[in-house]
Amino acid sequence: MNFGELIRIERELSHTEFSCRFLITNEVFRARVMPEWRETFASMAEVDAHPEWCRFLRRSPDGSGFVCTVHDTNASICREFRCCMMRIYDQAGRQVGKVGGNRSLISGDEELTRFFRDRVVGIGSTSLKDWLGKAGKALSSAGYRVVIYDEE
Ligand code: SF4
Repeated sequence: MNFGELIRIERELSHTEFSCRFLITNEVFRARVMPEWRETFASMAEVDAHPEWCRFLRRSPDGSGFVCTVHDTNASICREFRCCMMRIYDQAGRQVGKVGGNRSLISGDEELTRFFRDRVVGIGSTSLKDWLGKAGKALSSAGYRVVIYDEE
């Protein structure tokens, strides 16, 4: 999603780390460009051409859509928006997490958070639909039950 005009970068801490403010809620957050998106993030051509875009939004290199290059550390509003792409249940049937449209996990479950970080975040994908399918398979193979609500 693009909250470009609502996200202000207040300090550039390094080439890949920024102190930001979400202007509606005044939330301050530290955005870090994910290692796998650093090269994509370094390309400024499209962002310069579209000043209304969020500074962290980039077109996916394979041309299949857009990516949030800081999706592990973006503002909570970004994580909560379109928050029902996938729900994740444990073996007891308890919901332990959900995945937003920007592919980030919302969960208080440490085990799931670790698994998601280690085994799901790095999954290569061409589109959100493809990514959801692959992420769902990875989670299912680890014993979780997933329900995918929307596939673009
Ligand atoms: S999800 Fe990422 S790209 Fe979209 S507005 Fe939030 S920080 Fe920017």
